[in-house]
Amino acid sequence: MTDWEVVIGLEVHARLLTRSKIFCACATDFGAPPNTHVCPVCLGYPGALPALNRRAVELAIRAGLATGCTIQERSIFARKNYFYPDLPKGYQISQFEEPLATGGRIGSVRLRRIHLEEDAGKLIHVSDASLVDLNRAGVPLIEIVSEPDIRSAVDADAYLTRLRQILMYGEICDGNMEEGSLRCDANVSIRRPGEPLGTRAEIKNLNSFRFLRNAIEFEIQRQIVILKGGGRVSQETRLFDPASGETRAMRSKEEAHDYRYFPEPDLFTLSIDRAWVEDVARSLPVMPDARVEKYVAMGIPAAEAEALVATRELADYFEAVASGGNPKAAANWVRNEVLHLGHFRIEPVMLARLIAMIDAGTIGSKVAKEVFQEMAESGEAPDAIVERRGLAQVADPAVIRDAAQRVVEQHPTQVAQYRGGKTQVFGFLVGQLMKQTRGKAKAELANEILKELLDV
Ligand SMILES: [Zn+2]
Repeated sequence: MTDWEVVIGLEVHARLLTRSKIFCACATDFGAPPNTHVCPVCLGYPGALPALNRRAVELAIRAGLATGCTIQERSIFARKNYFYPDLPKGYQISQFEEPLATGGRIGSVRLRRIHLEEDAGKLIHVSDASLVDLNRAGVPLIEIVSEPDIRSAVDADAYLTRLRQILMYGEICDGNMEEGSLRCDANVSIRRPGEPLGTRAEIKNLNSFRFLRNAIEFEIQRQIVILKGGGRVSQETRLFDPASGETRAMRSKEEAHDYRYFPEPDLFTLSIDRAWVEDVARSLPVMPDARVEKYVAMGIPAAEAEALVATRELADYFEAVASGGNPKAAANWVRNEVLHLGHFRIEPVMLARLIAMIDAGTIGSKVAKEVFQEMAESGEAPDAIVERRGLAQVADPAVIRDAAQRVVEQHPTQVAQYRGGKTQVFGFLVGQLMKQTRGKAKAELANEILKELLDV
């Protein structure tokens, strides 16, 4: 592997969360009966005119801003011509020479561009025929194109993970890969370090993280075998077959000129004014990268911080708990307890209060877990539970000393054993002391006082 450098660029298609299609008023909802959300525009009838959906543009601007792109004041739609049964117009309206957003980056991966386009329909293959469903034709998409800055399958996974998070934080796309809301094409090539870029193969339509990783791993090995054997990698489009874990050739790769792009004559140049962009920028939430940075500054290890930004709901919840004053404890409770519940029904302010009670010594961490369970079930406040069930920790040395005294009196045999050097019985005696105080003695204090009495 060290002989070869892997070069990967990803093209991600994200379905925008609009209620209607990009150039007509048809609904976008997924799963409707075939061909029920169609009209002359998205069916591609001659003479039907597209009208641009403002919300789709706004979501594309959100995506651009969330990834640090420059939003172009002027962009143009173009026709991408090709024939396929799911494309009755014979062309897809996309953006080519002047995309809506350029530049930007996700982690260390630079973005080349983000542009708007319409989705095509869907073919459904039955035993002896293929059926066409055009509900998806005209659904708004953005395509996010990275520079070839990715160097491994693992890095590709990390890039797509972060991109998906950003799109979901921004309410731009629902991120559902199974339903095809987020689809990824991977351009993969290898070269010897320092050499010019090798010929790339494009693997189409990877709709899960696992397929993305497996397809890239397979493709790297396939290309290594070819080059080692003195052959040449051909530029082509390949499909990943999840059943075999292999990629196979689909067609030779098209060049841009094969599509005969030309400006869409039925749509105006898209002009976006600064004020609109600024409005959109103000409406964006804090994105995952900035949150990870903030959490690390609060003293939370990077890997934990990364886990806490997995969804915006989780990150928001954590921040609300952390605002109680103990972010490290908040991180532990959220990751270990709240996530196991599978819901966020405990009010963050209540969890913060529970943590504050531990910090103040009112309850120990073991009792706190019990209280937490009860909070999850009853929705009661932690102080109310502790009060009602008498769970407050005993931290009064005089009370503990009395109890310890009783333990020493009641267990002369074990005390003698301890004093004779059999120190293992200390655990038994502590257990007795905890029993005397119904488990509420502050543990360190109980140990300390019992030791004092035994060591005289
Ligand atoms: Zn329509």
